[in-house]
Amino acid sequence: MTREMPAWSYSALTAFEDCPRRYYETKVSKRHKETYSPQLSHGLNFHHTAEDTLKNHVPMPEALKHYAPVVGVIQSAADKPGATLDVERRMALDAHLVPVPYFDRSVWVRAVTDFAITSPSGRSVLAGDWKTGKERPASAQLMLTAAVLFATEPVVDKVTTSFIWLQTGNVSKETFHRPDVPTIWNSFNPRVQRMRAAFAADDFPPRPSGLCRNHCPVVSCPMNGHHVAP
Ligand code: SF4
Repeated sequence: MTREMPAWSYSALTAFEDCPRRYYETKVSKRHKETYSPQLSHGLNFHHTAEDTLKNHVPMPEALKHYAPVVGVIQSAADKPGATLDVERRMALDAHLVPVPYFDRSVWVRAVTDFAITSPSGRSVLAGDWKTGKERPASAQLMLTAAVLFATEPVVDKVTTSFIWLQTGNVSKETFHRPDVPTIWNSFNPRVQRMRAAFAADDFPPRPSGLCRNHCPVVSCPMNGHHVAP
C-alpha cells in the first residue's frame, strides 16, 4: 500500500528520523498519543504569557518574573520605531515554495516562529523561538525557518533566526541572506525524500533508542518496555 506523504515540518521530520514507527503511530495513524510532560505544560504557559507581554505589554506574572529580562530584550527590539512585530507566526509553502494558507490542501512544508520582528526598512527580519528545555547546539530548524521566511517575505534580504534558552538566558542565532536559500533547501531535500520513500513503501520500521524502555507511548511496538501485544 502506498500512502501520500502529509505536509512536513521540522518537528515532523526529526520525529520521523528519530523513530519512523513512533512518528507513524503518533502523528499519522494516531493510534497512540504522545504524553505531555510538566516541562512542556510550563513551556506552553510561558509561550502564551510571552505573547501577551510582547503584543500588549502585559507585565510577566510573578511566577515567570525571572524571565522578564530576556523577554525585555526582544521587547526593546520590537518597540523600535517603525519595526513590526508578529507573534506566533504560522507560515506554509506549497511544493513550489509559494506561500499558501496554513491549512491549505496544497501545503508542502510548515514553519512557526514564536516572534518575528521586521526592521523599519522592511529588508531584515529577526525571528526567534523561546526554549524552556535544556540548551542544545543550534539546529537545522534555524535554517528551515529562515528559508520559509524568505519565501513569505520577498522584499527581505536578511533573516536572523534564534533560539532563546530561558534556563540560561543564552541565545543561539544564525543569520542568513537570500543567496543562501537554495543551499538550505538542498540540505533538506534528501531528508524529505527519505520520508517520502517511507510513505511510498508504507514502511515505518522501529528505531530503538534509550527512549523505548519508559518514554515511548507506542506500546504496540515490540521494542517498548511496556509492550502490549495487539
Ligand atoms: S518503542 Fe522504541 S522503537 Fe518502538 S516505536 Fe517507540 S521509540 Fe520506536
